[in-house]
Amino acid sequence: MNKTAVFPGSFDPFTIGHESIVERALPLFDNIIIAIGYNVQKSGYFSIDQRKKWISKMFENQPKISVTEYSGLTIDFCKQKEANFILRGLRTSADFEYERAIAQMNKAMHYKIETVFLLTLPQHTFISSSVVREVIKYKADASLFLPKIIADDLKNIN
Ligand code: ADP
Repeated sequence: MNKTAVFPGSFDPFTIGHESIVERALPLFDNIIIAIGYNVQKSGYFSIDQRKKWISKMFENQPKISVTEYSGLTIDFCKQKEANFILRGLRTSADFEYERAIAQMNKAMHYKIETVFLLTLPQHTFISSSVVREVIKYKADASLFLPKIIADDLKNIN
């Protein structure tokens, strides 16, 4: 069976924490679909197009990875893509409580789909898109927390 994982998230923006989860998950799966969740009520800080362009550029030489956007339930998107795994990262116990409810809900709705959690590297525990966004909003240097492609691009924009 082809092992396809969906890595769903807002990725607003994609950080080195996300990058590390994807890289560490690569040996575990045949394909990883990085899926940018689209919520009509919440437009986000960076446009979906911008987020997708950045992530696609980062992994353009990695044939196992594709990047797409989706709306609706992650579980429905997985079924549509015939993906049997959902990949998520865990930083704190708060992440765990939140993720547990969603993963168990998903399991109740679609038994065949497993959620796989990778524990964050210690040096990435404090990195979240929301905090990184604050740094960017106030025009401070967020390059420590961002993949190089995104950090370089932001320097050109600012
Ligand atoms: P969501 O809005 O779905 O939580 P995020 O883009 O914030 O989307 O996160 C996507 C996934 O990446 C989640 O599983 C989250 O726990 C994980 N993640 C976010 N930041 C980090 C980090 N620094 N280290 C490890 N995992 C992370």
